[in-house]
Amino acid sequence: GTTKDDAAVPGRVRVAVRLRPRNAEELVADADFADCVELQPEFKRLKLRKNNWDTDTYEFDEVLTEFASQKRVYEVVAKPVVESVLDGYNGTVMAYGQTGTGKTYTLGRLGEEDTADRGIIVRAMEDILADVSLETDSVSVSYLQLYMESLQDLLDPTNDNISIVEDPKSGDISLPGATLVEIRDQRSFLELLRLGEAHRYAANTRLNTESSRSHALLMVHVKRSVKGRDLAHSIQNGNTTNLAKSLRPTLVRKGKLVVVDLAGSERIDKSGSEGHTLEEAKSINLSLSALGKCINALAENSAHVPVRDSKLTRLLRDSFGGTARTSLVITIGPSPRHRGETTSTIMFGQRAM
Ligand code: ADP
Ligand code: MG
Repeated sequence: GTTKDDAAVPGRVRVAVRLRPRNAEELVADADFADCVELQPEFKRLKLRKNNWDTDTYEFDEVLTEFASQKRVYEVVAKPVVESVLDGYNGTVMAYGQTGTGKTYTLGRLGEEDTADRGIIVRAMEDILADVSLETDSVSVSYLQLYMESLQDLLDPTNDNISIVEDPKSGDISLPGATLVEIRDQRSFLELLRLGEAHRYAANTRLNTESSRSHALLMVHVKRSVKGRDLAHSIQNGNTTNLAKSLRPTLVRKGKLVVVDLAGSERIDKSGSEGHTLEEAKSINLSLSALGKCINALAENSAHVPVRDSKLTRLLRDSFGGTARTSLVITIGPSPRHRGETTSTIMFGQRAM
């Protein structure tokens, strides 16, 4: 692993843990029991209760308690990644955890009734739109669902078999056929997200599955023109034809932000008794463990990141390592009944550091 001082170094994965408050049911049913974790945010420490006597202590880059606001979570988990995307780098924000622990709340909450509720995706777009200039720059979005190794377009429900194409030279990923919508304002972006959600719901109803059994990926492409350098170059060469041309942007700086709401990390009952097929279980286990291996390779500064093991990791390959930035938020619940799942989520986060 690496030391804490590497926090600002691209290539390293930053890991935050976020605890969901007790829900109404847990407040009643677990009233006599302590939470299975105790957080010490000022020390960036989490204590996991093993039994009445023993606790294990873990450190993270950031520890977000049940009182952490959505704003604070955005600032800690996503803002540095968004800023580097605006500077022309690739960046990824991922949420990993058991179903019901707050992945979608953290990433995807629209906050239309109360803007304080807005999640990472909405806040990221707000910052992006505030920074770009729409006369010369462009912001465009794709919204995808990865279910059982099939990549579906959430902006075009007829397109459920998108292929991943990799540029052999740059290693950059492109998704021919995936809908790319140019975003000009926050209102139309929210509309697009709602449309994607509706399509996701419809697709999952048709496939008789749940959204927690697939990964949702929002990709934001930011293209910015770098005009100043161009202009200076033309003046220096006394070339007025080029000068006229250079008033139109030519140099382009591209950044890509990928926000990944991962499938629930819980062990799925292989009997299928909860309505899940063995194939779903296998596919989720495969993609999450492939993701874990890639993140571990990044954490260990390994030259080989095994991206080929799953479609999820192939999709994220140009977001791993190099100049790219990755932020992982692991979400956990407080209930002692889920200590097993909580422990395995914490271990996933620890291995990423
Ligand atoms: P997941 O996407 O991991 O399955 P959700 O984001 O759907 O979990 O959260 C499950 C429930 O818990 C939702 O009703 C959500 O509103 C609530 N919830 C999650 N995190 C928080 C939080 N930090 N504060 C308040 N409510 C939360
Ligand atoms: Mg969810």
